[in-house]
Amino acid sequence: MSVAEETGATRVEVRSAGGGYDVLVGPGLLQRLPVLLEDVVDAGRFAIISDSNVAPLHGDAALEVLREAGLDAALFTFPAGEASKTRKSWSILTDELLEAGFGRDACVVAVGGGVTTDLAGFVAATYLRGIPVVQVPTSYLAMIDASVGGKTGVDVKAGKNLVGAFHPPRLVVADPEVISTLPSGERAQGLVEALKHGAILDLRHYEELVQELDALLDANPVVATSLIADSVSLKAAVVTEDEFESGYRQVLNFGHTLGHALEAASGYALGHGSAVAWGMLLEAEVGERMGITEPGTRARLEPVLSPFAGSLPSSIALGEVLPYLRTDKKVRGGKPRVVLLRRIGEVDPGTRWSHEAPEELLEAVLREALERA
Ligand code: NAD
Repeated sequence: MSVAEETGATRVEVRSAGGGYDVLVGPGLLQRLPVLLEDVVDAGRFAIISDSNVAPLHGDAALEVLREAGLDAALFTFPAGEASKTRKSWSILTDELLEAGFGRDACVVAVGGGVTTDLAGFVAATYLRGIPVVQVPTSYLAMIDASVGGKTGVDVKAGKNLVGAFHPPRLVVADPEVISTLPSGERAQGLVEALKHGAILDLRHYEELVQELDALLDANPVVATSLIADSVSLKAAVVTEDEFESGYRQVLNFGHTLGHALEAASGYALGHGSAVAWGMLLEAEVGERMGITEPGTRARLEPVLSPFAGSLPSSIALGEVLPYLRTDKKVRGGKPRVVLLRRIGEVDPGTRWSHEAPEELLEAVLREALERA
């Protein structure tokens, strides 16, 4: 029996050019961290990296359990929040690891939300030209999305996530019991990405999420285990097929062309989950008007997504949103592109999984949404 099976965890396999890794999901896994780590890395020392909110809640506990098992471990923290996902934090953390004498036999253990998994992953990708990382995501967003797929990085002045590296983890350990300490607003923000996975790939997953939203928002660990594992399986299938985002991985950007533009134009006052919920609704509208998305799709998404989307900040001006569409990473030949649904649970393949959308149409759909704000 494998170590993962002994823990009773649900296991999702992600294949990668580097050989692949497992995502384990299950209540109580944090307590089993030492055996899980020893099963995947032959490390002499463990550098746990956690933010200032998560360190006292779960980082210290991880440190204690590793030390109790006789492992050499130390905890490094940085101030919580997206504002810390920078080259400056990367530089402070790498200097701290060097000062503490961590060598090539070290392994980074990222314990936290997506900011931590991205930043600590980037530290691991670059430290002494690359050491292993094990991701221990503690937010829904990090469990469902950020810790799976191998993308690591930091934000820079020119935009989010523009400096980074593909550095797949050796293992992802998602213990839904830690969601009990995650603030309720953060729970909702993270679940939007799970709804997106269902909307693009699997109607059944979408409907199960809708049915279990209250239990998920209540952090019910049994329901969360099953639905996190399902959502991770969907993302895993996409990143296994297109690890380096040359084609199919585009589908994960549904809701993100218009969502990102609204989020950026709001000066990030609009949370990422709310922005993506808006993006999904508006891109469904765009798809319907282009005759690609089944009529009535936006109306079906609306009752589920509207509570997550909330109202658009009235400060957002259309003129501030449009430039972001032109600099979106999916722009080709100067034309904005969007991922469009055929119907809930299925993406239209378009050309390499996205469609060129007429700028006038995007502008009209955005104007209507902003006028109602
Ligand atoms: P986050 O890491 O900032 O976490 C949100 C807040 O919740 C923070 O204040 C954090 O301290 C707190 N927190 C996390 N877990 C907690 C817990 N169990 N108990 C109490 N507090 C807890 O942000 P996030 O929403 O988890 O992730 C967003 C980040 O993920 C963004 O930077 C985004 O770019 C990145 N991301 C990366 C990928 C990828 O593929 N690499 C994919 C999606 C998102």
